[in-house]
Amino acid sequence: MHAQTAADQDVPTVKLLIDGQFIESSTTQWRDVINPATQQVLARVPLATQQEIDAAVAAAQNAFKSWRKTPIGARARIFLRLQQLIRENMAELAALLTAEQGKTLPDAEGDVFRGLEVVEHAAAVGNLQLGELANNVANGVDTYTLLQPLGVCAGITPFNFPAMIPLWMFPMAIATGNTFVLKPSEQDPMVTMRLCELALEAGIPPGVLNVVHGGEAAVNALCDHPAIKAISFVGSTKVGTHVYHRASLTGKRVQCMMGAKNHAVVLPDANKEQTLNAIIGAAFGAAGQRCMALPVVILVGQAQQWVPELVAKARTLKVNAGTQPDTDLGPLISRAARERVEALIERGIAEGATLELDGRNPAVPGYENGNFVGPTIFSGVKPGMAIYDIEIFGPVLSLIGADTLDEAMALINANPNGNGTAIFTQSGAAARRFQEDIDVGQVGINVPIPVPVPLFSFTGSRASKLGDLGPYGKQVILFYTQTKTVTARWFDEDSAGGLNTTISLK
Ligand code: NAD
Repeated sequence: MHAQTAADQDVPTVKLLIDGQFIESSTTQWRDVINPATQQVLARVPLATQQEIDAAVAAAQNAFKSWRKTPIGARARIFLRLQQLIRENMAELAALLTAEQGKTLPDAEGDVFRGLEVVEHAAAVGNLQLGELANNVANGVDTYTLLQPLGVCAGITPFNFPAMIPLWMFPMAIATGNTFVLKPSEQDPMVTMRLCELALEAGIPPGVLNVVHGGEAAVNALCDHPAIKAISFVGSTKVGTHVYHRASLTGKRVQCMMGAKNHAVVLPDANKEQTLNAIIGAAFGAAGQRCMALPVVILVGQAQQWVPELVAKARTLKVNAGTQPDTDLGPLISRAARERVEALIERGIAEGATLELDGRNPAVPGYENGNFVGPTIFSGVKPGMAIYDIEIFGPVLSLIGADTLDEAMALINANPNGNGTAIFTQSGAAARRFQEDIDVGQVGINVPIPVPVPLFSFTGSRASKLGDLGPYGKQVILFYTQTKTVTARWFDEDSAGGLNTTISLK
């Protein structure tokens, strides 16, 4: 982090978005946005001041007065335009995302596309934000509900999906009639800002969408701000738990989608080729930096004999800059992340796991400064080892053997995390038992990364989620609205009146 003014520097600065204007921060605290494949400084991002955060919230508060009354169709049409603009700018968005985040260009397009699906869903908000009505609950009395927007809502997002996760948040919040303050990851805020530019171009009025930058201090300021009514957070369990508690103290609605340690179970009757390919893709794609990655695989019975083939497939993956064609995995987000992952590999060796494939220090010609770690596989992994207990968030796959499906399920249910899981089998009965008894939010059956499409909502069990309602999908309509229940009676000329001191409706 630097204590310097942005004007001194030769690289572009990331702007704040306040009341419809992209403005230069007046902070003295800046952080470099670094290309993880080259270490080139792409931009400097400000750590916004308290006054700037207050100004963003004030703009959102002011905009809410008219936005909440803007007709549903007018709100929804903005998201129809936004989805078109995102499609038209897909290549540019993906290139920006790869430059600052590191993932491959096709995977960057996937990141944008999974967010685009939520924008499409936001355009259908009229079908979703419907109340209920019961006719004649008493004589001449109807009861109905209004789902009204809350006011100013805020979103805090992680580095690993800088397009998809901001798009999980602001489109649904705004389409339901709220105004929004977004705090993107300070590690890769540029593609998020480009999406916000497109959102303004699509017609989001000034103050309805605002962006502030920063880290811990900015997040705490949002948690504490009395005018913010709800916070949606996606990131690590440690930070999410803090956000949940701190923001709840000021009466906010909070939803936190958090860390993971996803296990796959492979039964010996699984389709071997499909299963091994699925596991390799899910363990090592995006260099393992997905909350729905599969860093732990439990091989049941005879499937334990598949280790050499799994390792052979992992060896074929190409580690390179995300911009290079045919790259399978790009760099980790930062030098610090690379060092952390390498240190965890060291611990795995020291704690007695068998290193089947060592991805440390891969040769990447032309990108010698990149934060690369290649596919790494351990077998003989057990609970109690750091590589099992800690979310590595890198391309490190831990293999565990089990004799039965029950043993595998007991291990998964004993893990503190419950984000995603998958079973590979041709047995419907085994898959159904797994689906019934596993305590994990997202369950894949022969699907390695079962991230729900926006007809549904993302979820999570145990340490992977706090808050009742999920992001996007139908659930988020309830998160971003307050239910108001109206009980109404209208008198006509000849209605008979009578005094009633009881609670009953007559
Ligand atoms: P992170 O928790 O470090 O950061 C998330 C956000 O919190 C960022 O905006 C960051 O600026 C802010 N932050 C960081 N430290 C803070 C602190 N001490 N106090 C207050 N705010 C702070 O997460 P990350 O490293 O950016 O992302 C990776 C993590 O996110 C992994 O744990 C991954 O599993 C999780 N994740 C979860 C989901 C999900 O849907 N469950 C999706 C994506 C990522």
